[in-house]
Amino acid sequence: MINVTKTFFPPLAEYEAQLQRVWQNEWLTNRGELVLELEEKLRAHLNVPNIILMTNGTLPIQIALKLLAKGGEVITTPFSYVATTSAIVWEQCTPVFVDIHPEYLTIDETKIAAAITDKTTAILATHVFGNPCNIEAIEAIALKHNLAVIYDAAHCFGVTYRKKSLFEYGDVSTCSFHATKIFHTGEGGAAFCNNEHLYHQLFYSHNFGHNGPMDFHGVGINAKISELQAAMGLSVLPYMDAIYSGRKRVVEAYDAGLDFTKLRKIKLREKTQWNYSYYPIIFESEAVLLKAQKALNEAKIFPRRYFYPSLNTLNYVERAEMPISEEIAKCVMCLPLSKCLEISTVKKIAYIINTNV
Ligand SMILES: *Cc1c(COP(=O)(O)O)cnc(C)c1O
Repeated sequence: MINVTKTFFPPLAEYEAQLQRVWQNEWLTNRGELVLELEEKLRAHLNVPNIILMTNGTLPIQIALKLLAKGGEVITTPFSYVATTSAIVWEQCTPVFVDIHPEYLTIDETKIAAAITDKTTAILATHVFGNPCNIEAIEAIALKHNLAVIYDAAHCFGVTYRKKSLFEYGDVSTCSFHATKIFHTGEGGAAFCNNEHLYHQLFYSHNFGHNGPMDFHGVGINAKISELQAAMGLSVLPYMDAIYSGRKRVVEAYDAGLDFTKLRKIKLREKTQWNYSYYPIIFESEAVLLKAQKALNEAKIFPRRYFYPSLNTLNYVERAEMPISEEIAKCVMCLPLSKCLEISTVKKIAYIINTNV
């Protein structure tokens, strides 16, 4: 059986060696030695000044919204994973959807201004499949209207834009280190922020608001990552170059094997060094997608309809029509992509798709 992704497992002995340190320290959480070491190594790997590791990729979005969106209207994309929208609603803010660009699949920056009201406090946009939003345009709009910018950069580990980590853009960027993501800690995530004051707020907010054992800066929640999660991260991190290049090999084989007269690919933003995190293809229609999916499933190959459905259709948001996102969500599918996927399998997948579109 071939699934859309295959979690990378480091050699067990290397994970055990990290766990031995945890046993020796007799210390499981509250920012122990392994968490601090992983933060340091990630700052170096990603070339970023700041990172706060957290227990998943959703809590940093929620904390950033709590601090910056303050219950207001948040302009956001309907084409993302559900966590982007649910975090807005969970934080008692109102999502205001803006449709996406048909090729980049990121929020259409030309439609943002029309969605701004006197209640708008923030923009929460997703760098879809690691493909950057139009960062310059969004920054200019945010400056003009005094809005905060939060990027859901869950897919962006290792991506650079204009030679800087994609995590360096926006007031806050967040990432997920879930088991299905390109770098993982089983469950895990992070917030990135270059503003010292905001960084401090994010930091205490993720640890109950603590300022020392008996004092509090303000309200907080528990989003701390544990030593066990950091042990996994420290075991996976040395393999990242092999993971990027293994995936690049698969992406190039799909590029060579698929018939793009009847399929479309995502258009990558210029000046982007991508991380090969997903292989989305866009079919001519949902009917064609379903036909190809059925043929693949019969060969025990399980791609995933991701992202589906378009988030403006969720039953807990106010319905607004987003024709481009709704159409793309119906026609897009992510193909199997992992470090060691065999090229013969990629060729077989490409053949099945080409003969069913
Ligand atoms: C995975 C993902 C999240 C959520 O991250 P978790 O670590 O699973 O909480 C949020 N946004 C996007 C776009 C994602 O793909």
